[in-house]
Amino acid sequence: METVTIDALLAQVQKYNPKADLARIRRAYDLAASAHATQMRSTGDPYITHCLAVASILADLYLDEDSIVAGLLHDVPEDTAVPLETIQEQFGDEVAKRVDGVTKLSGLRLGMEQSQAESLRKMFMAMAEEIRVVLIKLADRLHNMRTLYARPPDKQRKIARETMEIYAPLANRLGIYTIRRELEDLSLKYLEPDKYKEIETLLADDKDDQQAYIAQAITILSERLAQEGIHPLDMRGRPKHIYSIYEKMVRKRRDFSQIYDIRAIRVIVENVRDCYVVLGIVHSLWAPLPGEFDDFIAKPKENLYQSLHTAVIGPAGKPLEVQIRTTEMHEIAEFGIAAHWRYKEPGAKRDPVFESKINWLRQLMDWRKDISDAQVFVESIKTEEFQDQVYVYTPKGDIIEMAAGATPIDFAYHVHTEVGNRCRGAKVNGKIVPLDYRLKVGDRVEILTAKKGGPSRAWLNPGLGLVRTSRAHERIRQWFKQQARVEAIADGRELLEKELHRLGFGQRNFDEIAKFFNYKSPDDFLEALGHEDISISTVSVRLFEAERAKTAPPEEAPPPVRPLPKVPETKFTVKGVNNLLQHLARCCNPLPGDDVVGFITRGRGITIHRRDCKNVLEISERERLIAVDWNQTDQAVYPVQVQVRAFDRAGLVHDISGIVAAEGINMASASALAGRKDHISIITATLEIASADQLTRVLNKIDRLPNVIEVHRVTSSGGDGEKRG
Ligand code: MN
Repeated sequence: METVTIDALLAQVQKYNPKADLARIRRAYDLAASAHATQMRSTGDPYITHCLAVASILADLYLDEDSIVAGLLHDVPEDTAVPLETIQEQFGDEVAKRVDGVTKLSGLRLGMEQSQAESLRKMFMAMAEEIRVVLIKLADRLHNMRTLYARPPDKQRKIARETMEIYAPLANRLGIYTIRRELEDLSLKYLEPDKYKEIETLLADDKDDQQAYIAQAITILSERLAQEGIHPLDMRGRPKHIYSIYEKMVRKRRDFSQIYDIRAIRVIVENVRDCYVVLGIVHSLWAPLPGEFDDFIAKPKENLYQSLHTAVIGPAGKPLEVQIRTTEMHEIAEFGIAAHWRYKEPGAKRDPVFESKINWLRQLMDWRKDISDAQVFVESIKTEEFQDQVYVYTPKGDIIEMAAGATPIDFAYHVHTEVGNRCRGAKVNGKIVPLDYRLKVGDRVEILTAKKGGPSRAWLNPGLGLVRTSRAHERIRQWFKQQARVEAIADGRELLEKELHRLGFGQRNFDEIAKFFNYKSPDDFLEALGHEDISISTVSVRLFEAERAKTAPPEEAPPPVRPLPKVPETKFTVKGVNNLLQHLARCCNPLPGDDVVGFITRGRGITIHRRDCKNVLEISERERLIAVDWNQTDQAVYPVQVQVRAFDRAGLVHDISGIVAAEGINMASASALAGRKDHISIITATLEIASADQLTRVLNKIDRLPNVIEVHRVTSSGGDGEKRG
């Protein structure tokens, strides 16, 4: 690896930033060189080579002068006797702030002891302070990776893993493809040396063919584009990215020969319109491979990346990838967020869309701006809710994406509702964990389930933090709802069966009853009963009335009951006058509840009108009007035979008579079969009942008498009452 000299660095900076204060950069170099004078790198080079290399990587990104200065000084306060104050005095607040930021990031001890997600979050926190701090940190890591060969093997693996888990994803998030690619390839080299070698060899063996092939494809395409009047600004083979090839071979289990982007060309054009024109021409020239087209122009990636990607069957029938983008898109693709701070010629126009996107990205990261202490910083992060994702594995190795903070229960419900319901414990990476464990990136999660059963109510307690995803919450709530329904149906069934027996209806078809009450299914009806959405007394009243409407009570009455005088159907109570012939006026058709008045006719009884009826208002003989009211309670009474089963007790019949009398019910007859050998008395009584309400009430009261086993109505259809126990 060639080392960067200060002169080379100054030349590099001057090239893209002619106004840079080169003397100031040299002063920073002098300070760093003297501060690190006694230190060596593990490569055997003086420490200052690292400072120069970092500054040079920042210059590759065309970063501003302060960033170059900070890059040179980034390790001074942490590793040397020169304090931050000296840097501040000599180079100003801005440089001091960035150097301090890099020092703090190192102080966070990112890595193995914390999860990748947590570390990544910390990096994002740091960005709130100053995104360029993170760029310096990335440059620092990149140079350390380039010189990793000089470290002992255990350090190599540790640092490579940390790079793969934290810094490469970070570079990706920031859209800095050039750095990401190099970090990934270097990490892979130490983490999977055999695979890395294999791919490197395959690429090298293929190299001449590849180059010839790419050159041929470019020639064909540029000729065709020229015919169409398109002259690309640049067209070349895409740089190899070993890690991406590795990923496709391993993750997608593709053979090396099946990987399209081994043969890839990149076309840079002037504007968006040309991007699509070129795409059309590429597709007319070579057949596109289905499912391989991505329009990242219409739908940019989160890191602002824009480009058209397509894969076609290129020359000689070999797959070829083509990426098409504008210069601006290419700049963002290569340098990502760093493009924002690139030195620009004064007066160079800035893309307002890009500006607004950057602002949005900044705001996203800006929410922890004023925390300066690293410890407080870490603590605050731990308590924050994050919408980030964690990636975990099933025991079979499938990757599952979950919201950060998700627990094993969330995971279980994600896998399957049934797994969630029966979840009783979990193993993470082979070890039992508590159910409030927060899943971390890379965890292998195994759910321990019961054979049957459901979730616990405690899972819904937000204070316990056992369930964090809305999906799991919803499933658990559903389970309890379903459970409540099952219980309510059972309760409803018990209530209804008991009541039907009591009222002497015997076995009834629940389907018919449900329909009668306008419920879609018997279960719905029973659930409503169980939940007391509909009261059992309402049900008995309605059933009782329905039965009465169907059958004429006197004929239905059992023999021992004396026939009751037929009561005329009275719809109204006319105050002070009973049993008058009544009919409803046709002119105004009064409905129950209407304010009504009676008109005494000559010879046809009373006509009932609405009080606001035009005819009533015009009646001159006001003395013939009579006050009437809708009759609320039907005054007719019906004989109902009830049967009481009870253990023998003196005075029981007397007690029953008392209840009946207290209700104002006439007991038409009563008989008792007492003192049988099983000591059970059967008392049969015929009650003149006015309403179903009244019947229910009196049955309930009798039921509560001492020694009463049960009481129910006897009907000829109801069968039950005939059995003698
Ligand atoms: Mn460093």
